[in-house]
Amino acid sequence: MRADAGREDVAAVEERVKGLGYETALTSGELQTIVAVRGDTAGDLRLDGLGDMPGVESLLRVQKAYKEASREFHPVDTVIDVGGVKIGGNRVIMMVGPCAVESREQLLATADAVEAAGFPVLRGGAFKPRTSPYSFQGLFIEGLRLLAEAREKTGLKIVTEVMSEADVQDVATYADILQIGARTMHTFRLLERVAATGKPVLLKRGFHATIKEWLLAAEYILKIGNPNVILCERGIRSFDGEFARNVLDLTAIQIAKKESHLPVIADPSHGTGMREYVIPMGRAAIAAGADGLIIESHPNPAEALSDGPQSIPTAEIPALAEEMTTIAAAVGRTL
Ligand code: PEP
Ligand code: MN
Repeated sequence: MRADAGREDVAAVEERVKGLGYETALTSGELQTIVAVRGDTAGDLRLDGLGDMPGVESLLRVQKAYKEASREFHPVDTVIDVGGVKIGGNRVIMMVGPCAVESREQLLATADAVEAAGFPVLRGGAFKPRTSPYSFQGLFIEGLRLLAEAREKTGLKIVTEVMSEADVQDVATYADILQIGARTMHTFRLLERVAATGKPVLLKRGFHATIKEWLLAAEYILKIGNPNVILCERGIRSFDGEFARNVLDLTAIQIAKKESHLPVIADPSHGTGMREYVIPMGRAAIAAGADGLIIESHPNPAEALSDGPQSIPTAEIPALAEEMTTIAAAVGRTL
């Protein structure tokens, strides 16, 4: 719609679209309002008339398979406000914490270090997707309660994974951001259930997902009417697993930012699987345009119940902060 279009103009367009049998979705930004026509509109010439209605600036047919996720649909960057923490703006958002919540002592010690570093978000898994059913699976609800306690104590926002539809309600009750893991990126009914909570969603890229599949997974969430999706590049599986667990796809950060308007963060912990590469690849990801990092840390990684080899000791969080502040400043951003 044109900047000077009135409410009645917008309403008239919506009504006409509905009359043609499509759903509408409204995006009202500071500079423009966009009326999206949802549905399979290919070849429907009746829609062309919309371009001549009062207040309409232009009629754009989004050619991409991922429509609402595409930058064609939404040219300006989406900034997601998580209780005052803005993701996708100038500030590089650090989300740090243990792979799994193991105990009150472990979580609170980590949370204190995260807060002291000035990072805004605490990560920690309560429901863990482990490769082996014999590995530690998480503390479930108790883990969520401990995360809430850590938030209470520090003011940090909480991001935690939800693995199954059955747990969506519980996780949404406690978390500020719901994480969809690499293994469930393709679990479309889960994406829809999570989207329906209205909470911000951190969507990890599946380790065997193409960028297009990842953006289409985001589309499942946006289509439900939840615009708050944060994309997370966490490494893809390639042929050389000998020295690193995955290949952190830095190009994907730029591609996702070009193709979509959503914030994109990186996970150099799962991306490399090895502690010594986490800071270097975190630096690289920020330099490549990432809007934030999600990183695993543990007070004593040698005793971690999951992902110890890639967790940095909490004692090294100040060094992490310093390194990332330097690189953020070098690309004109703050931490
Ligand atoms: C995690 O963040 O601990 C995790 C399991 O991540 P991913 O889904 O990327 O493997
Ligand atoms: Mn992990």
